[in-house]
Amino acid sequence: MQTTMIGYLSALLVLIGLVIHVATLVPLRKLMAMLPAGSLCNKWLAMTGLVFVFIAGYLGYIVVLWGKQTDWHELPIPGIFLFGAIFVWLTIKLSLQTAADLRRIILLESENITDPLTKVYNRRYLDRRLAEEVVRSKRYTLDLSVLLLDIDHFKRVNDRYGHQAGDVTLSTLGSLFKTGLRDSDVVARYGGEEFLVICTNTAIDGAALVAERLRRLVESQQVQIPDSSGGSQTIQISISIGAAGLSASVDSKEKLVQAADQALYRAKEEGRNCVIIARTEVKS
Ligand code: GH3
Ligand code: MG
Ligand code: MG
Repeated sequence: MQTTMIGYLSALLVLIGLVIHVATLVPLRKLMAMLPAGSLCNKWLAMTGLVFVFIAGYLGYIVVLWGKQTDWHELPIPGIFLFGAIFVWLTIKLSLQTAADLRRIILLESENITDPLTKVYNRRYLDRRLAEEVVRSKRYTLDLSVLLLDIDHFKRVNDRYGHQAGDVTLSTLGSLFKTGLRDSDVVARYGGEEFLVICTNTAIDGAALVAERLRRLVESQQVQIPDSSGGSQTIQISISIGAAGLSASVDSKEKLVQAADQALYRAKEEGRNCVIIARTEVKS
């Protein structure tokens, strides 16, 4: 009687292990769904294959050794089977939890530095990054330039087509700037309808070319905005740009932005839709 019980108990322990392995497939599937296709996803796919190998092994153990174990000393082996299954299940569950937490943190960090309307960096990030870039450029004697971009007569867009159309225009410009700039350039929303671009490792003449390219890009673009009847229409807009570079006299974040702002003011005065460069002495 006791020997039969030991046989069934062994089988029961392995059977519970088997069920746990099957249950592991659920978090495994969720984990793989969170990952982009690629080598990491393939490794987890291989892990899924291993779980199936375990399931087959546990099943084989039950079938072959069903009721054959008769001694208490034989119980540790089915026990190890069970704890092995619990270990695999816990590892996958914790991996899933870790991946979900990391994804949430990354999302929060990205929201923290992104302007929700234009999807470019926000002012908070800009201030920090510009300060870092100024320090880095001065320390390693690198060039650094900034562009201050302002939409021309933007108030008219709001007044004529509504605030929503104004928002659509801002968001269109945000994506236009992102696609029109190099990865090493940083574009951020500086204020209402003003954007600031940090051109790293770029002297003022190079930055002027970037500015002119952006100005033309906007000028050639038809911005699609919603109209009052629920349809859409296209409008043409333009931007004015003030450009400034780090130099012996323009040697701080504040002075750099101020120089670009003064150049932008002149661009407005000279009739808008143009680029004005703040000329200072050559950086020493
Ligand atoms: P200028 O060519 O001299 O720059 O003229 P402007 O009309 O663009 O300049 P102004 O400073 O007079 O007006 C800026 C307008 O930008 C006013 C404000 O309502 C609008 N604006 C600022 N932020 C937003 C926003 O988030 N959404 C919308 N729709 N409009 C905004
Ligand atoms: Mg403005
Ligand atoms: Mg404006």
